Order: sequence, then C-alpha cells, then structure tokens
Amino acid sequence: MRILVIEDEDKVASFIKRGLEEERYAVDVAPDGDEGMALADLAPYDLIVLDLMLPGMDGFQILKRLRDDGVATPVIILTARNAVDDKIRGLDLGADDYLTKPFAFAELLARVRALLRRGQTQASPILKIADLTLDPAARRVTRAEQRIELTAKEYALLEYLMRHHGRVLTRTMISEHVWDQTFDSYTNVIDVYVNYLRKKVDQGFEPKLIHTVRGVGYTLREEP
Ligand code: CA
Repeated sequence: MRILVIEDEDKVASFIKRGLEEERYAVDVAPDGDEGMALADLAPYDLIVLDLMLPGMDGFQILKRLRDDGVATPVIILTARNAVDDKIRGLDLGADDYLTKPFAFAELLARVRALLRRGQTQASPILKIADLTLDPAARRVTRAEQRIELTAKEYALLEYLMRHHGRVLTRTMISEHVWDQTFDSYTNVIDVYVNYLRKKVDQGFEPKLIHTVRGVGYTLREEP
C-alpha cells in the first residue's frame, strides 16, 4: 500500500515516513502543497496524509481539487489542537478522518489500517484467502496455520495482492502501490519478489494461490 504524506514540517514528515515504512508501507513525502498536488495527480495512492497549513496550495485546496476531480483516495487531515472549524471544514470537503497534532503514532497507524480496510469486500480486519491469512495489525502471515516469515517488501507485495485478490494486477499497478517514487520500473524486481513470495507462500502448499497472467502481470486467487 502506497501512502502520500503532504507535510511541510520536516520533523513531522520524516517521523511519519519512517514510522509508516517500518510498517511496510511505501511512502512519498511532499514538503509543500503544490508538489503534493502534483504527486497526487501522478500516482494512484492508496491513502493521503494531508497537513492543512502548507506553503503553496493549502490542505483545503488540495482536498477540494481531489474530490472535484473524482479522486476517492482516503484522506486523513492533520490539524492543530482545538481547531474545530478546520476539522469540520476538512471533513465537509471530503476528508475521511483527522488527527490532531501532536498525535501518537499508534493512533495514526490504527486510522490508516481502518481506512485501507474500507472498500474491501471482507469486513474483517484479517485478510484470508483459502488457508492463507494476513493480519495487518500484527503483521502476521500464516498458511495452513503455519507462521510464514516475510521480508518487508514481500509482506507489502502480499498485502497488495490479497487486498485485490481475484483481480489481475499489472506490473505497473504493483510498482505504483508497493514501491515508492524512487522505484526503477525498467528492472525485473517485481518478478523477483513474486518468486520469493511464491516460495514462501505456495511451495509445499495446495492449492497454489499466486498465478502468472502471461504478458499482463499476476493475480492471487483460488483457481477453481
Ligand atoms: Ca504545516
């Protein structure tokens, strides 16, 4: 899952980026409103963390533009303490949630998980396909009730595949949601990671869940 953080305070931005990356999210940071808007236009983010007071376009303007353009990406706004009017205005402009600065990182994470859960067909926070399970809160993956240890990128890739199970995912889609903007798309890195993942998730288990769709990409599903 790839997250855009639009925040002009260096310290806050790098704190959020570091923390989210530790939780296996791919993260891009924009230090002002104009760059934030440009990045949001460029890549299909899974979630945006948006500070309201920004140089250039402010958070309200960004939010309005996104929603006017029909972009439904979940947005969490960051507001100053006691700024009730800002919260109301932000929510009315289409923000999905807000956090008051300063906030506990664990709370940001819980809100991120809750928003990423929306729009999924399963209501349970634990993703489950056949006997494969992924618990985003515990970052725990099991197959046939055996614990599977994954690296950060393998985990992020599996989470993306599981959240979109049954759909064919192109390499472009995978790179856009699992890697950040530094990713070099002219490499075979995605294929390499899918193979790592297959070894851990499918080898020695039935049915196979990760499938290659020749010339297109990959899909995770229980084949009939
Ligand atoms: Ca600010």
